[in-house]
Amino acid sequence: MSTQQDIFQSIISHAKEYGFVFPSSEIYDGLSAVYDYGPYGSELKKNIRDHWWKSMTQMHENIVGIDAAIFMHPTVWKASGHVDNFSDPMIDNRDSQKRYRVDHLLESYAEKLAAEGKEEEREALLKQMDQLLVAEDFAGLKQLIESNKITCAVSGTSNWTDIRQFNLMFSTQVGSVAEESDTIYLRPETAQGIFVNFLNVQKTARLKVPFGIAQTGKAFRNEIVARQFIFRMREFEQMEMQFFVRPGTQMEWYRYWKEARLQWHLGLGISPEKYRFHDHAKLAHYADAAVDIEYEFPFGFKEVEGIHSRTDFDLKSHEKFSKKKLQYFDNDLDENGKPFGNYIPYVVETSIGLDRMFLLLLSNSYEEETINKEDGTTDSRTVMHLPVKLAPIKLAVFPLTKKDGLPEIARELMNECKPYFKCFYEEKDAIGKRYRRQDAIGTPFCITIDHQTKEDNTVTIRYRDSMLQERILLDKVKSLVEEAIM
Ligand code: ATP
Repeated sequence: MSTQQDIFQSIISHAKEYGFVFPSSEIYDGLSAVYDYGPYGSELKKNIRDHWWKSMTQMHENIVGIDAAIFMHPTVWKASGHVDNFSDPMIDNRDSQKRYRVDHLLESYAEKLAAEGKEEEREALLKQMDQLLVAEDFAGLKQLIESNKITCAVSGTSNWTDIRQFNLMFSTQVGSVAEESDTIYLRPETAQGIFVNFLNVQKTARLKVPFGIAQTGKAFRNEIVARQFIFRMREFEQMEMQFFVRPGTQMEWYRYWKEARLQWHLGLGISPEKYRFHDHAKLAHYADAAVDIEYEFPFGFKEVEGIHSRTDFDLKSHEKFSKKKLQYFDNDLDENGKPFGNYIPYVVETSIGLDRMFLLLLSNSYEEETINKEDGTTDSRTVMHLPVKLAPIKLAVFPLTKKDGLPEIARELMNECKPYFKCFYEEKDAIGKRYRRQDAIGTPFCITIDHQTKEDNTVTIRYRDSMLQERILLDKVKSLVEEAIM
């Protein structure tokens, strides 16, 4: 029996072997918590991004997109609270010099308790941790680590330093002369690009509250404990949407987006049992409610997306720091027949990590399958059951042999289909081998052109998940794939 940890290691190896994800600068032994996406990975990532973008900006008439720069005026991060507050409590082990995020250290210990069947102790520990984090009681947190005799995984000792705050923003210099240059930050979230453009967008797109602004793009965090492959990276991509609402209606919209976002995940055919909501006990400095959508990764339930009711904190603060009005004029009438007038809208945010969603899909799709054959023997294959619309390649086209005019027919089919979806052509190796290679990258449909094709214009279609094969008309292939990816 493979453990979940073994499966996770297999997924990481598979992702590398089949061109999904490579360690960054691998020839120099990699760079911790930074990864590159390969030929199939970059397709899958783009498909996830496009699907999210479409579900936000095309399926909602009141949501528009923007593409803001990564570099922003340094005061943005003062106003947003990131300079003062974007930090995690850390603790170092004096013997190994290894640094841990306090919540991660305690959570790992809690998982250990759960594995030993001590569910109540686990619950109690996590509850206590939440209370101490909310109170920012660092001495209490250290006491909690010590009283549970939690040790460092490397040194095995509990020789801990005091707990300190550590800011996660990366900074760099703009300007050529070091002494005169300004410090600017690499954005730790994409949201602020939306807030500072709020009025530009509202006016130019002529939007009325409630409306949303969506954006995808890179974000950077100096994560101290980088682990679990692309789950926690230092450079990653976010897909965020800020929904601007009338003050007082934020809870209604918070509940709406919480449900809508879960439905987006389930709409990809992923089992509801793999998901759960986790309400935040310790709210970020800007939020009046927050929930995580968690997915059961091979290493346990973890956050993939956050829904936050961010109040009017950000716009209000940017108004204060920039001394520019960031208000909206609402000419709808209230129950007394008076216009709502000027106000700073409240904001409900949905924020999902593109890389985490990618890892979710790899984890959910990966299967090492044993196949029982008709003659009583068994065979095996590795298959990625990716949602059809997100698969890197939608259709693979194989001429059975390299001669007798079969490649020509296959090429014609390629030319017919490739303007509409991503196709792949191959004439090398036995058909079975070609099928297996497509299974490994998640291609939902393979077409084989054989001698019968020349006689009756039919081809063999082979389905990835069921491995069933049937003959269909060559002319039907394009529409069959198009319907499946809609
Ligand atoms: P965590 O608690 O895991 O550090 P967070 O609560 O700080 O995450 P948010 O600030 O809410 O995360 O960011 C929104 C989303 O961005 C997260 O749900 C996650 O999918 C993604 N994300 C955040 N940090 C990282 C990271 N270091 N690497 C990859 N994705 C990330």
